[in-house]
Amino acid sequence: MSRETLVQQTTNSPESGSSTSSSFNADSFDQSVMSTYGRFPLALERGQGCRVWDTQGKEYLDFVAGIATCTLGHAHPVMVEAVTRQIQKLHHVSNLYYIPEQGELAQWLVEHSCSDRAFFCNSGAEANEGAIKLARKYAHTVLEIDKPIILTANASFHGRTLATITATGQPKYQKNFDPLVPGFYYVPYNDIRAIENAISELDEGDYRVAAILLEPLQGEGGVRPGDVAYFQKLRQICDETGILLIFDEVQVGMGRTGKLWGYEHLGVEPDIFTSAKGLGGGIPIGALLCKKFCDVFQAGDHASTFGGNPFVSGVALSVCQTLERENILANVVERGAQLRAGLENIAAQYPQHIAEVRGWGLINGMELLADIPLTAIDIVKAAMEEGLLLVPAGPKVVRFVPPLIVTEQEVEVALQKLGKAIATVTK
Ligand SMILES: *Cc1c(COP(=O)(O)O)cnc(C)c1O
Repeated sequence: MSRETLVQQTTNSPESGSSTSSSFNADSFDQSVMSTYGRFPLALERGQGCRVWDTQGKEYLDFVAGIATCTLGHAHPVMVEAVTRQIQKLHHVSNLYYIPEQGELAQWLVEHSCSDRAFFCNSGAEANEGAIKLARKYAHTVLEIDKPIILTANASFHGRTLATITATGQPKYQKNFDPLVPGFYYVPYNDIRAIENAISELDEGDYRVAAILLEPLQGEGGVRPGDVAYFQKLRQICDETGILLIFDEVQVGMGRTGKLWGYEHLGVEPDIFTSAKGLGGGIPIGALLCKKFCDVFQAGDHASTFGGNPFVSGVALSVCQTLERENILANVVERGAQLRAGLENIAAQYPQHIAEVRGWGLINGMELLADIPLTAIDIVKAAMEEGLLLVPAGPKVVRFVPPLIVTEQEVEVALQKLGKAIATVTK
């Protein structure tokens, strides 16, 4: 490949929408990539801020952000600088050695959360695996439970590894992958009675509840916020029994909700929590953070080859520092309120179709009525036609998770496009 072609392919010139490019062939893609995803017929090629362009040069407003991941949007100068700096300096060594960037990132996270220590991995599922392992070792060594049980919620989502699909309280993710991992039990979300019953019923023989794993707001399962009274009661139960309270902050953490962590909306602190999606602004990183019992893990208990390498740690640290320096949480609160008001306004125009709008900050869901044929995918497809990218959260909920740097004007335009899309599909 000549230098010229290289430059042409890597140069980001978003204003010249027609300068693209490469003809993309979905058929040949599908011949060589496993068909694990139901993909939209769209190939994205470049991005800038909250906008992305497909291989035909068509522009979209990106209210998916890599599924609540691209905190700073696309091609943000801070990320370009951090990625370049790290790759030129040192990108990977191994956790056989001290990695200064990893230490700095851990320190930032510890200083900006209730946690005392961090462990780094590559994804949300892997962070939750770490939390599950830590909870089990805590159960065996501290609570002296032979067969520890972890309670999780119906409609939860915790990842796609074997243990995390088992933790995920949605049968569709588990089907045909049995035998599943033992030691999980499901309860309805936001239902304190169900938790109390499970704890007493499961206390039999060698079995006992050792941990409760919950999302502060259920993302994938339909953008369902946690109930404050429920979580406060849970905290009390856990304090009294020694049961670990674990929060999956993979989707809602890192400022998505207008607060740095989802648990801040609930007025309770977890013993352990996990982060991933927004943590690195789109580079693959996950973290397990713990407040108590960090010493349950001893040298040799847990590891990850790539976990917290200089590259991802350096970039994630820059993302974290930028959130703070540019006071991006204030933008999340303001833009979140604007988006929410606009969605409520649209919902009020379609009482025959839209049941409810809910969420925190810049994670919002629009739920469609259950007894009509219209689905979230119908709206997502119509919005795509209008140049707005959205993602469903289950069959009946449309999810809105733009980059946290989204502007007032972009929210306004997104609402206009959404309005047109809904008008089309409800005609
Ligand atoms: C996305 C998600 C996960 C899984 O993260 P991966 O990086 O895809 O493994 C886990 N928990 C929650 C709440 C998520 O939203």
